[in-house]
Amino acid sequence: MAMLSAVSPATADNEAVFQAPLSASDAPPSPVTSIQAKDITRHTIALAWQAPERANGVILEYEVKYYEKDQNERSYRIIKTTSRHTDIKGLTALTSYVFHVRARTAAGYGDFSAPFEFMTNSVPAPIIGDGANSTVLLVSVVGSVVLLIILISAFVISRRRNKYSKAKQDADEEKHLHQGVRIYVDPFTYEDPNQAVREFAKEIDASCIKIEKVIGIGEFGEVCSGRLKMPGKREICVAIKTLKAGYTDKQRRDFLSEASIMGQFDHPNIIHLEGVVTKCKPVMIITEYMENGSLDAFLRKNDGRFTVIQLVGILRGIASGMKYLSDMSYVHRDVAARNILVNSNLVCKVSDFGMSRVLEDDPEAAYTTRGGKIPIRWTAPEAIAYRKFTSASDVWSYGIVMWEVMSYGERPYWDMSNQDVIKAIDEGYRLPPPMDCPVALHQLMLDCWQRERADRPKFGQIVNMLDKLIRNPSTLKRTGGKDYATRRSNPSLLEPGSPEPCPSAGTVDDWLRDIGMERYSDNFTAAGYTSPEGVVHMTQEDMARIGIAVATHQNKILSSVQGMLSQMQQMQGRMVPV
Ligand code: AMP
Repeated sequence: MAMLSAVSPATADNEAVFQAPLSASDAPPSPVTSIQAKDITRHTIALAWQAPERANGVILEYEVKYYEKDQNERSYRIIKTTSRHTDIKGLTALTSYVFHVRARTAAGYGDFSAPFEFMTNSVPAPIIGDGANSTVLLVSVVGSVVLLIILISAFVISRRRNKYSKAKQDADEEKHLHQGVRIYVDPFTYEDPNQAVREFAKEIDASCIKIEKVIGIGEFGEVCSGRLKMPGKREICVAIKTLKAGYTDKQRRDFLSEASIMGQFDHPNIIHLEGVVTKCKPVMIITEYMENGSLDAFLRKNDGRFTVIQLVGILRGIASGMKYLSDMSYVHRDVAARNILVNSNLVCKVSDFGMSRVLEDDPEAAYTTRGGKIPIRWTAPEAIAYRKFTSASDVWSYGIVMWEVMSYGERPYWDMSNQDVIKAIDEGYRLPPPMDCPVALHQLMLDCWQRERADRPKFGQIVNMLDKLIRNPSTLKRTGGKDYATRRSNPSLLEPGSPEPCPSAGTVDDWLRDIGMERYSDNFTAAGYTSPEGVVHMTQEDMARIGIAVATHQNKILSSVQGMLSQMQQMQGRMVPV
């Protein structure tokens, strides 16, 4: 059965923050590669498609996205169905439509298929009478022949048109597609950046907008909340960025570049552009309204109020938005909690896409010796040192956002100076786990902060990892405790002399399990060693005294105890070496 579920990106389902896929399969299905039109009438197209080559699990649903070719992708409809065919009804006659299909398994949606284009017919389908009356029959037969001729002509014309349209579309899309994946186009590569605005952002009539109140100050002017009522659509809340009077041409271009960039994205975790007002003053950018504002302030206001699963849901949403951006080859360069917006459902969306301004208007960005402003605490070493900004440097910044989220908006590296941060990172120190942060999440942060950018996880892997944690909440139970050290980022980088993992859990039992010595849990309990702090001063004699007689076991435990002691000492200096 087909279910009509959304009429425009603005009303498309928001990605559920806490959505936990149902099975253990990790990879989503591969894209659907072929869509056919089995039957076409004036107002209906009967579509059918092949299952993806690699389903990677049971296909729970297909999603068909379609839109009028001439209206472009920004105003689409979605139909969900459990079968491999569906009738798309209510179409306009003699109009080209573009269709994409994707499959969903417990691991989530696969990518959409490439676009397939079909055109509706120009004439009604022939209706043949019941044959009782010969005149009616004759009229019907003659009518049918005429209709058939018309249909064949329409079909030939439509084929020609389709061929042309397809060729034109291929040409149009060639510059935006890379191996079937839509890639981001830098608006500054347009000779006339206004052309990019026209291509990627819808012009909105100022009379459709009601400004209500000022909610923030951007680099170019005030940011307001208000309402947008487009003809034939319901009224929605929007954020309105304005360009203050007296701007230069360059400022206008830079301001609108954000819209040209945002307008290319369509994802539930990326802020959605409604359109722009450029034909009258003030020039405005209209986006969806995010009731809870920026993530850093939101977290600070709600310190301690969320469950770990809710926090991981927030992180999952941001990672999913970042995966989408990196798939489109867009490098953000300023991924930080202050640049993530939160709506009333706790859905987080990546924002702040201005070009040159991205770093210029960030109060955290500081000038580096090589010129240019960089938000040092959020930025990967190679981007600070030689401006090597890539999706891998965005992953580093994402790791810092993870830390900001888990610490409810704490400032990364506290009151250390930028120079001290650069030096500490270079010496191999990394931020320790925030209070009550699950070990698995801190480990993921440390992975994002690998010195070698090739060693950092990709956003797709981060999303999968977070999904796994959400599916198995017990894996989030182990935390580093309130005030003591953490696991090292990479066991292979452990210093000589501490070959065993250090205790990473809050209890002695967890620690013993970590090092494979849980058989001695009762010995420790009986001797009164109930907290990690209690065991760090144990000696070999203490081991023997509590009944650990095997020398290799004594050594294993002692070695871990020494590691724990040194981590506690480092914690007094707050940073963790890797
Ligand atoms: P920006 O110029 O994008 O940094 O925006 C300045 C401030 O305006 C942000 O820090 C937010 O507090 C607020 N803001 C911007 N966009 C939105 C939005 N779409 N919804 C709600 N608040 C927003």
